[in-house]
Amino acid sequence: MKLIFEKGAEGRKLSIFGASDVPAVTVDDQFLRKEAPKLPQVSEQELSRHYSALERRAHGVNNGFYPLGSCTMKYNPSVDEETAALPGFTAIHPLQDEKTVQGALKVIALMEKKLSAITGMEQFTFQPAAGAHGEFTGLLVIKAYHKDRGDEKRTKIIVPDSAHGTNPASAAMCGYDVVNIPSGADGCVDLEALKAAVGEDTAGLMLTNPNTVGIFDKNIQEITRIVHEAGGLCYYDGANLNAIMGIARPGDMGFDVMHINLHKTFATPHGGGGPGSGPVGVKGFLAAFLPGQRPVEGEDGFLHMQTPEKSYGSIRSFNGNFLVVVKALTYVTMLGREGVLEASRNAVLNANYMRKMLEDILPAAYPVTCMHEFVISLDKLHKETGVSALDAAKALLDYGIHPPTMYFPLIVHEALMIEPTETETKETMDEAIQAIREIYEMAYQDPEQLHQAPHHTVIGRPDEVKAARKPYLRYQEEA
Ligand SMILES: *Cc1c(COP(=O)(O)O)cnc(C)c1O
Repeated sequence: MKLIFEKGAEGRKLSIFGASDVPAVTVDDQFLRKEAPKLPQVSEQELSRHYSALERRAHGVNNGFYPLGSCTMKYNPSVDEETAALPGFTAIHPLQDEKTVQGALKVIALMEKKLSAITGMEQFTFQPAAGAHGEFTGLLVIKAYHKDRGDEKRTKIIVPDSAHGTNPASAAMCGYDVVNIPSGADGCVDLEALKAAVGEDTAGLMLTNPNTVGIFDKNIQEITRIVHEAGGLCYYDGANLNAIMGIARPGDMGFDVMHINLHKTFATPHGGGGPGSGPVGVKGFLAAFLPGQRPVEGEDGFLHMQTPEKSYGSIRSFNGNFLVVVKALTYVTMLGREGVLEASRNAVLNANYMRKMLEDILPAAYPVTCMHEFVISLDKLHKETGVSALDAAKALLDYGIHPPTMYFPLIVHEALMIEPTETETKETMDEAIQAIREIYEMAYQDPEQLHQAPHHTVIGRPDEVKAARKPYLRYQEEA
């Protein structure tokens, strides 16, 4: 496919603006470019066709099923986009006088209230721009807390082996040593290993619950108790709240700090081209350490931004990616308490439906009731037929289905992690189940066919390492 720069013809421009009626300004010669930039010269129709063609080459939730585990690629109502596009939200500036942006400040304060109700935390910062950024922010709160108490021997963060890869990375970024602890055969934290790992040097524990194999840890209160007893704090990785919102609260499980991915659970797609938001919530005793400024309501409205008393500074500008917060607020407000609960229930129901329907051929790595996602292992299939999780994932593309997350979590061999999300219908899931069953049968009949998959997509198997490490992003004009 041609790039937009390779289309069009000299002089074929879009002229939507009239002649300028603003007096010309003189700019110092050194700042002026010597020749005009080589912009594409195309008609509006060419432009429109170009982007439609590009869109057809990609796969989004609007094109079909997207069960990418841990990413919650659900359908988000367009009303959320509509509110975030209102000029009252888009045409304002963070340095404007508070009096003129009362609505925007109220959005932040309201969202803090809703998230507190959903999580059992007390205060939030909306600065972090993503989940991993939230982890870093929250760990800095833990660090500031220990430092404030003069307790500086705490240098270790405990992370179970079922954790998301960002957890140990964030802890290391904060200067902590990472202590890995194993999961038991049931996919839950091994309590004895945890007891052996905690001590006077424990700054905290990072945990995802439900964890990355989709299991809710039944010992969660015992886990947080053990860490607290050793003087550490508990960090909850709330990137995926899809299974528990309205049902269980990290605050009640004993967690002190957490982040939420608004760009998964709350109406912005994960990695969907655009900003994210990873607000960090804390229990009251940690509120003084939060970064940034909070809008606080006084008698005359939100006229004074407050910097928490022992704040360690700022982690990002102003209140982060504000428009993502507008979408999230629209989403939870439209759903209401009952709707939020129903979304969680359906997410869990859908995941268990798919898990059960595949059980006879590809049982889940941990064959118990799962939360919003589950992990199957293709290890046996791989050994018997040579067909790997990668082959099966690629074959799904030919069915118009986005593959599940592959080779994650690391503790499961030949893993495929499936998260149908609450917005999919039974018919869509049945089609996907049928596709997976056909691929499974094909593995025994004609494995070569699967090694070559996909057969009907625009590109087959790109070199993933090269694509990630050496992206070719800049158009070089031919000489
Ligand atoms: C997605 C995810 C993260 C990281 O979120 P980003 O916004 O991609 O940085 C962290 N933990 C878990 C469990 C996740 O699923």
